Amino acid sequence: MTRGNPCQLPGMLSNYDPNDSEAGMKILEDLTENVEQIQQRVLEEIITRNARTDYLKGFLDGQFDKQVFKKTVPVVNYEDIKPYIERIANGDSSNIISAEPIIELLTSSGTSGGQPKMMPSTAEDLHRKTFFYNLLVPVMNKYVDGLDEGKAMYLLFVKPETKTPSGLMARPVLTSYYKSNNFKNRPFNRFNVYTSPDETILCSDSKQSMYCQLLCGLVQRQEVLRVGAVFASAFLRAIKFLEHNWKELCSNIRTGHVSDWITDPGCRKVVSLVLNKPKPELADLIEHECNSKSWEGIIKKLWPRTKYIEVIVTGSMAQYVSTLEYYSGGLPLVSTMYASSECYFGINFKPLSKPWDVSYTLIPNMAYFEFLPVKKKNEDGAQYVQCNGVCKENCMEKETEKEDVETVELVDVKLGQYYELVVTTFTGLYRYRVGDILMVTGFHNKAPQFRFVHRRNVVLSVDTDKTSEEDLLKAVTKAKVIVESLGILLIEYTSYADTSSIPGHYVLFWEITSKGNNHLPVLDHKIMEQCCSTVEESLDSVYRRCRRKDNSIGPLEIRVVQHGTFDALMDFCVSQGSSVNQYKTPRCIKSGEAINILDSRVVARFFSQKAPFWEPV
Ligand code: AMP
Repeated sequence: MTRGNPCQLPGMLSNYDPNDSEAGMKILEDLTENVEQIQQRVLEEIITRNARTDYLKGFLDGQFDKQVFKKTVPVVNYEDIKPYIERIANGDSSNIISAEPIIELLTSSGTSGGQPKMMPSTAEDLHRKTFFYNLLVPVMNKYVDGLDEGKAMYLLFVKPETKTPSGLMARPVLTSYYKSNNFKNRPFNRFNVYTSPDETILCSDSKQSMYCQLLCGLVQRQEVLRVGAVFASAFLRAIKFLEHNWKELCSNIRTGHVSDWITDPGCRKVVSLVLNKPKPELADLIEHECNSKSWEGIIKKLWPRTKYIEVIVTGSMAQYVSTLEYYSGGLPLVSTMYASSECYFGINFKPLSKPWDVSYTLIPNMAYFEFLPVKKKNEDGAQYVQCNGVCKENCMEKETEKEDVETVELVDVKLGQYYELVVTTFTGLYRYRVGDILMVTGFHNKAPQFRFVHRRNVVLSVDTDKTSEEDLLKAVTKAKVIVESLGILLIEYTSYADTSSIPGHYVLFWEITSKGNNHLPVLDHKIMEQCCSTVEESLDSVYRRCRRKDNSIGPLEIRVVQHGTFDALMDFCVSQGSSVNQYKTPRCIKSGEAINILDSRVVARFFSQKAPFWEPV
């Protein structure tokens, strides 16, 4: 067993000191040079460990062979494995899918039947994540000097968790990681010193957590070299919070006394230590900046030594780039990694590249990766479903039937091609369709690099919510019943995610008419607001959590438009190349011009007046 040589131990993880950037770079070079061997060893190891699980036994019939694995184990969606996950949640032994004990279930932002999907996780998996996080350090150090000379103001949060009937924790992947010993007892690493004490990150009251983290960040402003959050939406939420609370934060800094409503004992204790004593000059300085009319470039003004903002701005988060640029004053936006509840996938080896140029290199010892080819529009005559998600690309998703699925291995993907990612993990997922569409943009050594294109079936997303066309249709159908009982018909609808203000919110455009004549009915405010609430109540649990608990989505809005508006939308789409014969109203629109066409014909606007019901799974 050679320390630091991942080729010898692909499934295991080399233990290296993240303070040692050279060793880190060497590991990354090894990993990306030996992709094929590592992927083969990973698959071998997963099969060897798990061939006797109920799940694999059924397909492999006692054989440990990779070819048999690929021939007999089907490519699956969550619905196919849900019964196994539910059995484990209800007390069955986890070895029905994984030889390693499953210690918790990670609740994904992807949903099934309205509830978060649950992904298995093992103790070893936490080490795999730590290994992955440690690899980010040498990559950043390669491009940005002196990160060990100051601190990172990362605003990190935990989310609510529950226990399954069998007593396993069910919680989001990051909550699981921050609460683990791998995070809490992490060895000191001079490249990763945070301004937020762990107690503030681990505080379950998100408002207290946000307040305390910002307070600590402001007090240590001269030491801050980078700022960030996991997703762009969360970082912008923090800026909005600051906009609403800077006076109180400054008053705390001025007096050296933390506000009384900070009642979490852990937070109070650590924040008082950071605050230490009254700092009137610092409070004056911050107040001066926050008081200025425009908040353009506020990040650089408040944290003047900041070199970059670390937030994911790819995928659905790309909609926040311009707002972030406004607040950042031209700082680079850095998306470091691509990961999920299923598995951590890839690292951005060129962290300073522009958001639209970001590619992720999949790390070959994280899982066994396969790829389902996705055709580009009009590439052949087959039936395709239009990809009208957050993606602006001209790609189409083929409705893949289980029988005709042919995957490609990591080393065999082709430059410029689109693929859906399929993973076989160390935690009990076998040939599992993640649902993300990626495009190959290049290679780092022998490791392919991918641009995140979009997530399959997602049409609306403001924060971590992922609403499909089907979810939207179901929700609108419920609201439609309300107006129909009053003699009003919903003729057409479409939607878009309005992120022009923070938090963003869903907007539905409705064209309605009175039954029996073609007139716009008189609209009752209460009824229309009820329609807004009904749509919200009918959306999935991640939407409802973001809206109710995290306040990361604002009240849903219905904009009623004049008669003929959807004809005007059709004319526009046809003028842009849609076929008149095959035209179908898009259920979600992205184009600014199309939104303007609808917006210019709005006759009334209604907002949901109450946050929808939500509780943990
Ligand atoms: P979850 O399972 O809730 O953690 O969500 C994981 C999903 O978030 C992934 O499958 C992607 O669809 C999306 N995601 C994660 N990281 C990125 C990224 N860097 N860029 C774009 N989308 C991402």
